[in-house]
Amino acid sequence: MKRPILIHPDPRLKKVAAPVEDISDELRKLSDDMLETMYDAPGIGLAAPQIGILQRLIVLDCVKEEGETPRPLVMFNPEIVAASDETSVYEEGCLSIPEQYAEVTRPAEVTVRWMDRDGNAQEESFDKLWATCVQHEIDHLEGKLFIDYVSPMRRQMITRKSQKLKRERARG
Ligand SMILES: [Zn+2]
Repeated sequence: MKRPILIHPDPRLKKVAAPVEDISDELRKLSDDMLETMYDAPGIGLAAPQIGILQRLIVLDCVKEEGETPRPLVMFNPEIVAASDETSVYEEGCLSIPEQYAEVTRPAEVTVRWMDRDGNAQEESFDKLWATCVQHEIDHLEGKLFIDYVSPMRRQMITRKSQKLKRERARG
């Protein structure tokens, strides 16, 4: 089932999400819904706070090439345990800030530890787009958005545009 995505500004996007204690069927269903919502948008990542659920859960799939096998990842309580000194710059966007993009500098490679849908501990290193995406999604669990990395002036401008788009969508 597709879930509505919150649009910035929204106080729920600024909150710190709570750790997941144990992975219930309800949470597994939620992760399925999040993947469906993400693919439909379309997007390459989605964090639970973006659909108003303040729990530490993200989904991502950065396989974008036509004909390549999708790789949906579901991460409960994801944590960055190592980050490279080397950085990379990507033009980021966000399903909660439609049509707005900004260049963000982040570590080029990160090692992430998480719990999968079956409650098993996983650890993997990510680079390129995957590294950027997983960091962007984990930021959401801290109430942090990609626009928090740009200048205050730029942030205000993006927020105004997002607010306008949100009002237009609410009007229908
Ligand atoms: Zn986002």
